[in-house]
Amino acid sequence: MEKGLIFDIRHFSVHDGPGIRTTVFLKGCPLRCVWCHNPESQKHEPEKVQRTTKLDGKEYNLSETIGSYMTSEEVFDQVKTHIPIFDESGGGVTFSGGEPLMQPKFLLNTLKLCRANGIHTAIDTCGFASNEVFSLIFPYTNLFLFDLKLVSPQKHEYYTGQSNQVILKNLSLVEQNNTPTIIRIPLIPGITDDLFNLEAIKSMVKPLRCVKRIDLLPYHHMAKDKYSRMNLPYELEDLKPYTAYQLGEIKSLFNDLDIPVTIGG
Ligand code: SF4
Repeated sequence: MEKGLIFDIRHFSVHDGPGIRTTVFLKGCPLRCVWCHNPESQKHEPEKVQRTTKLDGKEYNLSETIGSYMTSEEVFDQVKTHIPIFDESGGGVTFSGGEPLMQPKFLLNTLKLCRANGIHTAIDTCGFASNEVFSLIFPYTNLFLFDLKLVSPQKHEYYTGQSNQVILKNLSLVEQNNTPTIIRIPLIPGITDDLFNLEAIKSMVKPLRCVKRIDLLPYHHMAKDKYSRMNLPYELEDLKPYTAYQLGEIKSLFNDLDIPVTIGG
């Protein structure tokens, strides 16, 4: 039985789809976005990080391994205890990452278990996977949370390490399959938030009947500590988080769409 490499399972999540959800985080991602808030999710292997903790005025260095292998049944055992909460709140399970579609066999098995037990399923994806993988999971996926970052293929490759061509083709596939989708746009000052990029994303999304909502995800500093713990350079050190006014202005660009637009999801 194919095991999945999981780096976290969080219960009571309210930002990863409708209702109250359990979010399963799969480790490994084909992209390397410079703004990534989960650098510990990128490598498709368990990795050790150092954590410093203080006790009675003394500093201790602890080593922690991120990522462990689990079967679909082991993951489902944790998910199923929350079925009454899902039923009550209209929630379910969300597979996130990293990129969950990087582990297609494990994901497919786990999705099947969830759907066989009546659990609503969502996939939080950067969209970078083969068409075949998308086609495999369509029958067991109720909702996609689909990232759209940059429309320029060159800029996309520069800031994420991959062109967006595969991603845009997969979005067309999701549209053909008419799976309900929430588009997630990371707002990164000076990178994704220029008028040209946001207007182009809006034009791309407007005719898609699968898209039910747009979530704007503003940049914040919270990942900074993770980068230092992992000895990784944090390239966005100098960026300032948005003010409420700036976010309101960006959101207003999407006012003429017939679907809800949220800040933060
Ligand atoms: S797609 Fe998501 S998880 Fe992957 S590198 Fe980009 S921000 Fe990080």
